[in-house]
Amino acid sequence: MSAVLIVNSGSSSFKYQLIDMRTEQMLATGLVERIGDSSGHAVHTVPADAAGSPDATTERDLPIPDHTAGFRVMLDAFAENGPSLEQHPLLAVGHRVVHGGKRFFEPTLITDLVKINIEELAGLAPLHNPANLQGIEAAQEAFGDVPHVAVFDTAFHQTLSPASYSYAIDAKVAQKYRVRKYGFHGTSHKFVSEQAAAFVDRPLAELNQIVLHLGNGASASAIAGGRSVETSMGLTPLEGLVMGTRSGDLDPAVLVYLHRRAGMSVDEIDALLNRKSGLLGMSGANDMRDVLSRSAEGDENAILAFDVYIHRLKGYVGNYMAQLGRVDVIAFTAGVGENAAPVRAAALAGLEAFGIRISDERNTAKSRDARRISSDDSDVTVLVIPTNEELEIARQTMSIV
Ligand code: ADP
Repeated sequence: MSAVLIVNSGSSSFKYQLIDMRTEQMLATGLVERIGDSSGHAVHTVPADAAGSPDATTERDLPIPDHTAGFRVMLDAFAENGPSLEQHPLLAVGHRVVHGGKRFFEPTLITDLVKINIEELAGLAPLHNPANLQGIEAAQEAFGDVPHVAVFDTAFHQTLSPASYSYAIDAKVAQKYRVRKYGFHGTSHKFVSEQAAAFVDRPLAELNQIVLHLGNGASASAIAGGRSVETSMGLTPLEGLVMGTRSGDLDPAVLVYLHRRAGMSVDEIDALLNRKSGLLGMSGANDMRDVLSRSAEGDENAILAFDVYIHRLKGYVGNYMAQLGRVDVIAFTAGVGENAAPVRAAALAGLEAFGIRISDERNTAKSRDARRISSDDSDVTVLVIPTNEELEIARQTMSIV
């Protein structure tokens, strides 16, 4: 037995990946979506193999009433299109769980008590934890005999100091309602910082790093000797950088002001800041590719959205340089970080006095691999490191089974 199935479940969809842990190769990946709608949709892809056969993708449209039915659709896809789960019997199932609160700081074998705890943390992540739990329940029905492991998005940031995770509010309120910074994308920050250390061929324990995870959601972290010491997301994933649809940082009084002055309800403000802000709110496009192409055409809203995105990002880099004192590596990752050379160049422009020099040629070279984009005379090594959250979840799952 050598395969691990990774499940990342949302309220109306889940993504999965089957990974062979002997080689760490992905054997299949898929998405089951529109669960509960009149018409569901499932996509299953078996990647190109070494023998030269191309990616094989199959799609189906059919009603998928709930997650349990979704797992049956996934099992059918494995049976019909491979790889056979009989030939790759599962060692374990690893689940991405968004919020682990203060309680979960490492990969955790899922027991009934753990499920109660995940449920109980739903107050902190009402959109995510209940959906993660639905995926866990359905996966346990489908694969009853194997261990299921929860890997928490918050876990890696449990090493933040009280000075960094505490908000300056009434301590009793903070305590009672568990209001503090938790941080997210931890699996990615951990994976990327380890890959970066391997890339520069130095012990992780010796390195001070800034990791910039810029996807649709975006977060920065400061990592000293492999431990997260600062991160930009907070109680929820709303704090910090400008994102595809989230505002990131703003004066907290804006919420009160919008409620009083514009008569907006709490739900409306929540939707405004989480789903209609960021690049989308400012420019009408949440995808950085569109923002860049519109900017090139002179669209002023897109230009401003890009400028605000960069201004915020650079501010975090400066903040984390000060927190760390010395920075060895800055690593860009996720959809924007891995692909958008103009974002990388702009975010680190003008920082030569701090020992940061980007090579234009390296930064604009097309590649999918981990690579250095700083020039040889840069004191700080700047890298692009493709993230792989599924592989990291699989590794952490394996570490306890
Ligand atoms: P998620 O947070 O959903 O996992 P990803 O890490 O896959 O997101 O990042 C998705 C985002 O990456 C897209 O919304 C888009 O803004 C950005 N992106 C992807 N490819 C490119 C590209 N070639 N240039 C600029 N941005 C890109």
